[in-house]
Amino acid sequence: MSGWILPQAELGPFLQTVREQMQVFAPTAVEAEGLCALRPLNGAIGPPDTEARRTMLPPKKLLLPNNETLFTFDAEGYHPAPVDDAPTVLFGLHPCDLRAISLLDRFFGARIADQRYVQRRAATRLIGADCLPDDACFCHSVVASEPRDAVYDLFLWSLEDRFWVTVNGESGAALIDLDRKRFRHPRPADRLALQRRQQLRARMLENGRARRQARGDAQWSWREWSAACFTCGACAMVCPTCVCTTQEEHPSLDGASGERVRRWSACLYQNYDRAAGEHHFRNERMERARNRFEHKMLGCGVGEEGVKCVGCGRCVVNCPAQLPLGEALERAAGNLQRAQAIKAAAANPGGEES
Ligand code: SF4
Ligand code: SF4
Repeated sequence: MSGWILPQAELGPFLQTVREQMQVFAPTAVEAEGLCALRPLNGAIGPPDTEARRTMLPPKKLLLPNNETLFTFDAEGYHPAPVDDAPTVLFGLHPCDLRAISLLDRFFGARIADQRYVQRRAATRLIGADCLPDDACFCHSVVASEPRDAVYDLFLWSLEDRFWVTVNGESGAALIDLDRKRFRHPRPADRLALQRRQQLRARMLENGRARRQARGDAQWSWREWSAACFTCGACAMVCPTCVCTTQEEHPSLDGASGERVRRWSACLYQNYDRAAGEHHFRNERMERARNRFEHKMLGCGVGEEGVKCVGCGRCVVNCPAQLPLGEALERAAGNLQRAQAIKAAAANPGGEES
């Protein structure tokens, strides 16, 4: 793996240089609220906390705001609301969140493009960072534990007092070029340290899985956990890949003007699929819960097949009912992988290599 080495002490000054060109958001501990949030870096930048745990809200909040005016209207017609597409760097995104952004890119940018998302995304650079998982992480079970999608511009592997920086494409190289003097070429000891760090992460993920299995959490059935679910939607609000939104019109009192607003929503809400005549496609809580989690594992219809969960663990740590959601998803991912293997073997009974 080729790359550059950035001494840890140089990270703050490097980001300071980047910030002269674009706004930089990074995981920041918000002690008053007891959480970690993606916030703009202001003032002098010391070495950011690259060992930060997951942020409560995902980076999605900066690409698809949770509440945005799409357009206003009046007697003159419709007026598209401006898009905030200032050049931006999102720093410190873990592999699961990078994978989530590649899924959002496909959903909002491929078949029917959402111009607001596409415009913001084009102005956004991504600097990933590796992490040491906790017990809620199961990214390796859904193949999102490594920065594979090449959606990032730079990716930092933490090697104690320095970072191994992997560069992706011209936009990544351009970020390095902003302050090249802070980087040096890797030495054999750096390669060894990178290997050790990657092995440590893999071991921690496996140990977490073993502890969850030993607890037997994965034995919960859909019916059991949906009966205990409050359908509060917290799991969907914090999910980096959930894409359900709702749109509302807010007219002025005289009806002469108004605005259309898009807000995050959740297919877990009873009103989400309420249709004329008081019909609900999924009236029962269990049906809604199953729908959400099947969508996470199987995708959302033609052209959107595939696992949409990235194993970030946000739904696990933020569920007020403390349901073992990660275990349910992890078990579903395992079942899916087994089914795919059986299908592949049936399609190729002789086992010949294609
Ligand atoms: S966060 Fe927990 S309680 Fe709330 S809707 Fe999700 S599964 Fe149900
Ligand atoms: S379903 Fe849960 S673990 Fe999976 S991506 Fe969403 S929040 Fe993360």
